[in-house]
Amino acid sequence: MGAGFGGLEVARRLAGAPVRITLIDQRNHHLFQPLLYQVATASLATSEIAWPVRHLLRRRKELTTLLAFVTGIDSADGKVLLEDGSAIPYDTLVLATGARHAYFGHDEWEPYAPGLKTLEDATDIRRRLLLSFERAERESDPERRASLLTFVIVGGGPTGVELAGTIAELAHETLREDFRLIDTRKARVILIEAGPRILPSFTDDLSAYAHAALERLGVEVELGRPVRECTDNGVGFGDRKISAKVILWAAGVRASAAADWLGVPADHANRIKAEPDLSAPGYPDIFVIGDTVTIDGWRGKPVPGIAPAAKQQGRHIATTIKMRLGGDASPRPFRYKHSGSLATIGKRSAVIDFGWIRIRGRLAWWIWGLAHIYFLIGVRNRLAIALNWLWIYASGDRSARLITPGEERPSRR
Ligand SMILES: Cc1cc2nc3c(=O)[nH]c(=O)nc-3n(C[C@H](O)[C@H](O)[C@H](O)COP(=O)(O)OP(=O)(O)OC[C@H]3O[C@@H](n4cnc5c(N)ncnc54)[C@H](O)[C@@H]3O)c2cc1C
Repeated sequence: MGAGFGGLEVARRLAGAPVRITLIDQRNHHLFQPLLYQVATASLATSEIAWPVRHLLRRRKELTTLLAFVTGIDSADGKVLLEDGSAIPYDTLVLATGARHAYFGHDEWEPYAPGLKTLEDATDIRRRLLLSFERAERESDPERRASLLTFVIVGGGPTGVELAGTIAELAHETLREDFRLIDTRKARVILIEAGPRILPSFTDDLSAYAHAALERLGVEVELGRPVRECTDNGVGFGDRKISAKVILWAAGVRASAAADWLGVPADHANRIKAEPDLSAPGYPDIFVIGDTVTIDGWRGKPVPGIAPAAKQQGRHIATTIKMRLGGDASPRPFRYKHSGSLATIGKRSAVIDFGWIRIRGRLAWWIWGLAHIYFLIGVRNRLAIALNWLWIYASGDRSARLITPGEERPSRR
């Protein structure tokens, strides 16, 4: 279940094994989430970071792809329950249904502060950003105009930092000549982080570097005050209030409903507390991977919710299944290898922590770019994105500045 990084990896690694696979996803595409912020900020088009699952796996005759929404699991009968009332039988089940953003018990903030997880989220954010400039151009009241030109991002992790840096470049550089009545260089971009520093998963020096780099781009960084309200008119945090028409949410995640489907123990973010071999407690034939599981195994801390972890877990499960088919059913504990943490700050700077070496600045940005191009799928997309980035790097021009009609956003499932 789930054709994200984890689920797709299981399917891929089972190629050639004597199995029949059914891959179920509510969407018809596999999404490269690390570059979603570039769609949201008009740098890339949607089709450059998403691929139809059916096409990706078209040569795998033993594999069936189903576009369907899972609503539950009947573990007694070995069936996955779908929204349309049908059920899919299984011998072994892999739960790879990921996570969404969470509002710390304040779901009522979502309409005012959308998060970034799907292509719909990204195009919705892009529309909000670009429409705000359009409305500011037609607004004569200086206060309302200032509010339209104030962009707030909540959450100072990699996604918040990447959004803030790119929105600042969009406003201060890309759009600067496009408007006549407003000066987009005066737009305010504010990054709010409740903790004492941004990029808390990075070392102090890289976090300080990213902070300074954001400020050089014109981003105002607000630390140490948690957000207490988000409304149509702005955001309140600590004892302060900022009037802003665009607020973006990049704080907190909540795992899919997998723990509820099985009734197994979960952490505060609803991630299943799996056994060391990644099976769900009490269910040796049901495995849980990626953002929907929590497991210790990285410097005594939980394995981070990032794409390489989901892929490593997918690989581990595929090997376990193959070994079981060969008659070896002994439990195999999962071991995580951390290959590094990366975050970009605008189009020319990044921070990278490989553990054995830390890199920052332009060199880090080039390494970040090459790493992402390597992990994309297909030659055409790699070439298109590389060309796009070089163009943006040299000219500052972001060409995906399209305001597409607002469509109903799918409900938060
Ligand atoms: C904005 C953003 C930026 C990120 N940047 C980075 C980064 O730079 N580097 C990095 O390593 N990681 C990054 N991540 C995290 C990374 O994308 C996740 O850790 C990874 O996608 C987890 O893989 P997964 O297979 O568990 O879940 P996902 O890749 O999210 O896949 C889950 C799949 O399950 C499907 N699904 C969910 N529920 C159902 C259901 N009920 N029925 C049917 N299908 C369902 C979904 O449609 C989805 O396709 C980022 C995430 C986000 C949101």
